Amino acid sequence: MSGGSDSKKPDTNLDRAAQLLNEAEFSIALTGAGVSVESGIPPFRGPGGLWTKYGEPPLDGYERFISDPKRAWEELLKPTEDWLVGLRQTLGRAKPNVAHFSLAKLESLGAIGALITQNVDDLHRQAGQRELYEIHGNFKLLRCVGCSERFSFENFPIDVKSLPPKCPNCKELIKDDTVHFGEPIPSEILASCERVSERADCILVVGTSATVYPAAGFAVEIARRGGTLIEINPEPTELTELATIFLGGTASAILNDLSEKILRLHRPG
Ligand SMILES: [Zn+2]
Repeated sequence: MSGGSDSKKPDTNLDRAAQLLNEAEFSIALTGAGVSVESGIPPFRGPGGLWTKYGEPPLDGYERFISDPKRAWEELLKPTEDWLVGLRQTLGRAKPNVAHFSLAKLESLGAIGALITQNVDDLHRQAGQRELYEIHGNFKLLRCVGCSERFSFENFPIDVKSLPPKCPNCKELIKDDTVHFGEPIPSEILASCERVSERADCILVVGTSATVYPAAGFAVEIARRGGTLIEINPEPTELTELATIFLGGTASAILNDLSEKILRLHRPG
């Protein structure tokens, strides 16, 4: 069942992808901006991208936060920088699409054991994904830089006269959960991602060009040790030459068909 990228009919490739996912011992999914495009969230870079439109966020975002958390918090509560205003509005409006719901369905069918996402948009949670690792954080959450506990941004008591807020457990600084430029990936999330990808013999990569590390490394690692790599992207990427199967198209259309096929495999006849 191994093989390259022979030009078979799309349906044949889809059947084969469903079969491989179904036969795998433990499959994981890795998602990026491409799954959220149809929820109205443009990718950051490229034509129509958020950063193209509003300008790039500061490349020393984490450094700025840590060196002046009071000011960072004022900006967080009342954004003045265009890219942040634009990003917040876009994220606030977005709802999960068929791609998110199909991935949640694949999990409930047992075809996916865990999902790693580079997205901060909360949409996998809203779609009901349970075993979820948000490697770049979640815009609706806050995180303690000391004990790493997460809190709901909406419900966390914030005294604007006494910024920055402190952790109720360990009194350390609270920041937004989104991983800023220059900020290390929270170690417990990274460890969980490494744990599930070491266990995985199959990875479904959706809507990411797989150039952002460490996330891309998980897919490369699984493919290099002989695991199955199924890639879903509109166009081939740097990862495609390593892929067992490449399925070209939008995330929602392909994932919808894939989850239907797997459902049928579970209910023969
Ligand atoms: Zn804490």
